Amino acid sequence: MNAPLKTLQANASGFFDKVQNKHVDKMVCKAGCSKCCYVDLSVFTVEANLIRDWFQSLTSDRQNELRTLWRTELKDGENANGKKEKSCAFLKDEMCTIYEARPLICRTQGAPLFFQELNSLDVCPLNFSQSEIPPREDWLNVDRLNTLLAMLQGESQERVRLFDLMTDLLS
Ligand code: SF4
Repeated sequence: MNAPLKTLQANASGFFDKVQNKHVDKMVCKAGCSKCCYVDLSVFTVEANLIRDWFQSLTSDRQNELRTLWRTELKDGENANGKKEKSCAFLKDEMCTIYEARPLICRTQGAPLFFQELNSLDVCPLNFSQSEIPPREDWLNVDRLNTLLAMLQGESQERVRLFDLMTDLLS
């Protein structure tokens, strides 16, 4: 168990919820919108281990249900920018099958993402038009979040592809 990582993830989810509640008239993020999930993600081992711990905490029946879902083929789809991609290994029926344990990056998608070092703002075109950019207090500072995550990861920068993690969890 990694309490600081869980706190960081909860804080990111809390920030997202706050932004979504404020811009509920514009943001289309909801269960079933999976445009952010047509992506081949990898995560630091600390986050992969949290997903493993969560999976191990499930009943064996639930684990087997998930394994059955995960054995189905990845779907082809379009992300929010219209680019064709394969789905994340954990996306099934347009829903995240590891939602409770989803990594930090997944908790931020849909909010305005500010990359401080590049002085660049990324917004989902389904949520915000370029002429209606939300105020700065609603921008999520991705560099700061990644710095905190890297501190929790420690010296090793090892990452795990979510597809490989899913494959491991099948056995
Ligand atoms: S882990 Fe879940 S939320 Fe993240 S990309 Fe995969 S399906 Fe989507």
